[in-house]
Amino acid sequence: MIPIVLVGAAGRMGRAVEQALAASSEFVLQARVDRAANQPAGAVGWVVDAAEVLRAGDVAVEFSDPAACAALARLCAERGAGLVSGTTGLDAGQDEAVRSAARSVAVVRGANFSLGVAVLRRVLRTALAALPSGWDVEIIERHHRLKADSPSGTALALAADAAAQHGREGGAPRFGRGQGRTGPRAAGEIGVHSVRGGSWVGDHTVLLAGEGEWLELRHVAQDRLAFALGALVAARFVAGAAPGLYSLEDALAAGGRSQ
Ligand code: NAD
Repeated sequence: MIPIVLVGAAGRMGRAVEQALAASSEFVLQARVDRAANQPAGAVGWVVDAAEVLRAGDVAVEFSDPAACAALARLCAERGAGLVSGTTGLDAGQDEAVRSAARSVAVVRGANFSLGVAVLRRVLRTALAALPSGWDVEIIERHHRLKADSPSGTALALAADAAAQHGREGGAPRFGRGQGRTGPRAAGEIGVHSVRGGSWVGDHTVLLAGEGEWLELRHVAQDRLAFALGALVAARFVAGAAPGLYSLEDALAAGGRSQ
């Protein structure tokens, strides 16, 4: 059984991961970590600091917040525990903490742990390779009203994929289109637009627009279980992997996914 320490356990994603863990016989949930204010009243077996419970050989799975993610990455490296990291919106220093931990332990990080988005990214690269480079790329993401960062990490990953595939200048993202006389669209720019409201779990549309026609690639996450199941694929992979920074795609390629 793979021992899991779940950080951000009381959050939306933490609860979804716990649900996925309950349906699997491969993992044992060693500890739930969250801020005292968010822990369920009278909860037993919860801690506020992963340092109280994390041991060598554990796999920490975190969907929490950027500062907590960076602190946990340092702790995993110190203790010799693997890390599955799903938090988005990290600044450069926090990002470096995760990269640095991956020099000592196995880390899978991803802005989106759903199988569908892994396939969307592949399909986008294939579509752009087949289309003339003059086609415009616009990305629209929708999330629930409480999401803290914008644009979503997934939209940024899709924009980076598109820029790399375009392989030409001007592939930088343009966040929103501004207001007033914004002028014609610059060739090669990648528009990224964020919509917030209600309880959308995660919705990403990539528009590929040519002359007189357009193509739309879309992924909709209806339930956070989609991300949670991917996080467990990553946890299984991390438990047996050498130190390094890996993606969900690496984990899927190594072990596939059953659901
Ligand atoms: P949430 O606000 O519902 O949950 C976050 C939890 O982390 C909260 O319970 C909070 O108390 C806890 N937390 C914050 N600081 C902590 C600390 N120092 N120690 C322990 N716990 C701490 O948010 P959410 O919707 O579950 O999303 C969490 C993160 O995961 C966000 O960055 C979000 O963008 C990201 N996310 C990633 C994926 C993916 O597939 N990679 C999917 C969904 C959400």
